[in-house]
Amino acid sequence: MTVDTARFATRAVHAARSRETAAARATPIYLTAGFEFDDFDHAADHFSTGTGFGYTRTGNPTVRAVERQLASLESGADAVLVASGQAAVSTALLSVVGAGDHIVSSTHIYEGTRGLFLDNLARLDIETTFVEDIADPDAWRAAIRPNTRALFAESLANARNDVLDVAAVSAIADEVAVPLIVDNTLATPSLLRPIEHGAAVVVHSASKFLAGHGSVLGGVIVDDGRFDAERAGHNAPHLVLPGRGGAPSVFSRHGGRARIAYARESVAPRFGASPSPLNAFLIGQGAETLSLRVERQSRNALEIARWLESQDAVESVDYAGLPSHPHHETAVRYLEGGFGSIFTFTLRGGLPAARRFVEDVRVFTHMTHIGDVRSLALHPGTTSHAQRTDAERAVLGVGPGTLRLSIGIEDVADLIADLSRVLESVRETVA
Ligand SMILES: *Cc1c(COP(=O)(O)O)cnc(C)c1O
Repeated sequence: MTVDTARFATRAVHAARSRETAAARATPIYLTAGFEFDDFDHAADHFSTGTGFGYTRTGNPTVRAVERQLASLESGADAVLVASGQAAVSTALLSVVGAGDHIVSSTHIYEGTRGLFLDNLARLDIETTFVEDIADPDAWRAAIRPNTRALFAESLANARNDVLDVAAVSAIADEVAVPLIVDNTLATPSLLRPIEHGAAVVVHSASKFLAGHGSVLGGVIVDDGRFDAERAGHNAPHLVLPGRGGAPSVFSRHGGRARIAYARESVAPRFGASPSPLNAFLIGQGAETLSLRVERQSRNALEIARWLESQDAVESVDYAGLPSHPHHETAVRYLEGGFGSIFTFTLRGGLPAARRFVEDVRVFTHMTHIGDVRSLALHPGTTSHAQRTDAERAVLGVGPGTLRLSIGIEDVADLIADLSRVLESVRETVA
């Protein structure tokens, strides 16, 4: 019996079956749960060595294409795409730490990541020490313990735009043979590639600049592929010791790529935050225009930051692109072709001024997202940083009058006109 002679319900399911291969120029969307095996041995081979594609949670050609693209943009050896930025952070960390281990992290990190450290990893007996002055190498060294297994930081951080001296902190991680994991979401590989400066692992919320269109969530882990079993094996028994039932170790099978292989084989598919192939496609499409968007966004942001700094309703502007920023020199040293599009500024009128600002913007959208082609505004003190104490908010540069902007690709004159009109009404409010 062929499909043609089969009955109606059978033809409905089988008539479109395709084994054609065509050289599509755009990345095809393999929206399928699984893949047909060529034969008996192919199935066995896939299950024993992981080659080819079997089931989309463990591998998919659309996802794989985007992983190659993002690994290349970050100058890494390989990448694993996952369903969100938070999944990327948790997958990267759970690929290196286990119960009884310790993490040293910058305190200037995304609030969701901070919650992961304090609420979730803590319950797995993984403790985190936070470093406030990330520019001080001794502060990092002092926080390291014998059971430290990872250093974590953001290359460019919200809210104060702190810039990480990636080479200096990578060197400290190297001294104790543990990876430095860098969340590079705000800087993007268009401006900074941490692996080129010694970081071992880079993570992203691909929901932000990599996709850029604000229509999907995604995350990625990129690895430098330089895991050194001789130097770091004692800190990573899960990579160098034989697996369950005496199976060959991850390192014996993957060498320098052991860490990312472990993330792909053991962490991402087991915890299960797999990306949809459709979302992977949309992230890949977005990443094609990353450099153009970031170039325009950075140019717009610098112009707006300078303009805001000149306004009397504005108390301060925390943008690493301004010479007034404490990390400006580090920013000049690390960021190529711009200073990014996200920064905060503080209005003189405190909370009433901030409320007026978010209620009055028109071209800017009031929402909690960043890295979009659209310009966005948010009041961190009552949203992302609402759970913090006043003292903590002060350290993080979040006051009652502080607003966060994520600058888009619009014509900058329209953005400044919007801000100008809003500051006028803010002045009336607080006068
Ligand atoms: C948004 C964000 C995350 C979390 O990413 P999701 O895609 O929202 O899960 C992590 N780190 C940084 C710096 C972010 O901006």
